[in-house]
Amino acid sequence: MKLPGQLPIYLDHHSTTPVDPRVAAVVMEVMTYAYGNANSVEHLYGELAAELLYGARCDVARLVGAAPEGVCFTSGSTQGISLALFHAVASCKHRPLRVALSTVEHRAVMDAIKLYEQQGEVVVCWLPVDGQARLEMSELRRACQDGVDLVCVMAANNEVGTIYPVGEIVAVANAAGSQTLVDATQAVGRIPMVSDEWGITYLAVSAHKIYGPKGVGALIAPRGFEGWLMDQSGHSAAQGTPNVPGIVGLGKACRLRQVEMSSDEPRMANQRDRLEEMLLDGIDGLVVNGDRSHRLSNNLHVSVPGVPNDAVIARLRRLVALSSGAACSSASQSPSHVLRAMGLSETLQEGALRIGTGKFTTNKQIELAGRFIVDAVSDTRTALRG
Ligand code: PLP
Repeated sequence: MKLPGQLPIYLDHHSTTPVDPRVAAVVMEVMTYAYGNANSVEHLYGELAAELLYGARCDVARLVGAAPEGVCFTSGSTQGISLALFHAVASCKHRPLRVALSTVEHRAVMDAIKLYEQQGEVVVCWLPVDGQARLEMSELRRACQDGVDLVCVMAANNEVGTIYPVGEIVAVANAAGSQTLVDATQAVGRIPMVSDEWGITYLAVSAHKIYGPKGVGALIAPRGFEGWLMDQSGHSAAQGTPNVPGIVGLGKACRLRQVEMSSDEPRMANQRDRLEEMLLDGIDGLVVNGDRSHRLSNNLHVSVPGVPNDAVIARLRRLVALSSGAACSSASQSPSHVLRAMGLSETLQEGALRIGTGKFTTNKQIELAGRFIVDAVSDTRTALRG
């Protein structure tokens, strides 16, 4: 594989994270030596693979505060969310399933729900957010009082980084007899989670957001879920040969987050604050989006009014890798539904930049990136004037 000479500073960790070399090492070891099929337990190879899966199950469960039996391995959060919704719809005694959904959920949740809505299986009650992407709790309470079967909320937003009070949200839902689907993709391994204590019904996790491999994740689901899934013959969700190396990588990534989260996160928050300071000092009119007192430690989401983000990103192409929003919307260049839901003006939406630092980001990279971004905005402004 040929990489371009000097790679830009990577500040797009909400999109995906690099694999921790310690995770890569165990994945490699499993691929090379522990290659048995975990379903073929008549021999030692299969038995070892099955044991490794069980270890990973325990690691995931420990990180999110759930029982190992509740862990179902998936190909990532998109599949986890889709399986959770499939189960929620199928096990609901009446039609349609009444779902309350925040307006800033990830496309993985929104698109799946919209599909069920078109089929008449689901009716949606949209839960609005305020200008900092915070959930209007009074609206959640009202929706729950009116009758909701499933409340879908993310634990932290993938664009502006706002962290949601999941424990409180789940308590409101449970008190009204509603189940919950928590998309914890961006929050797991960054903030403490106690899924079982909070009483979450479904919780989705993805390895590639926590320095693990791509294409693997887990859904924490109610007891009996995996057996139920096996019985759904003909459904694409039926599980085949488990991805043992990927799952072991997920387990190792969870173990590392468990041990290192409390030291990594404050350091990353300091770096983010330094970068924020540099941008606020160097860019006239810069607006910081999201809830600055409750946001992911590695998130910095800003808008530069009147300066189109694509022009800035193009100038930074060889220097800093950052994005205009969620990976899927930036690829399609469609406006961000999150920023729209927050009520940001068109100019703030057009000038939006999402910056995500990571645990391997150095202070030197932060200083350089700050200078590069300030210069890129300044050059873009000059070019627009000219
Ligand atoms: N939910 C959130 C909040 C995300 O940020 C993402 C990925 O960007 C997903 C779901 C989808 O996760 P995956 O890539 O594991 O399918």
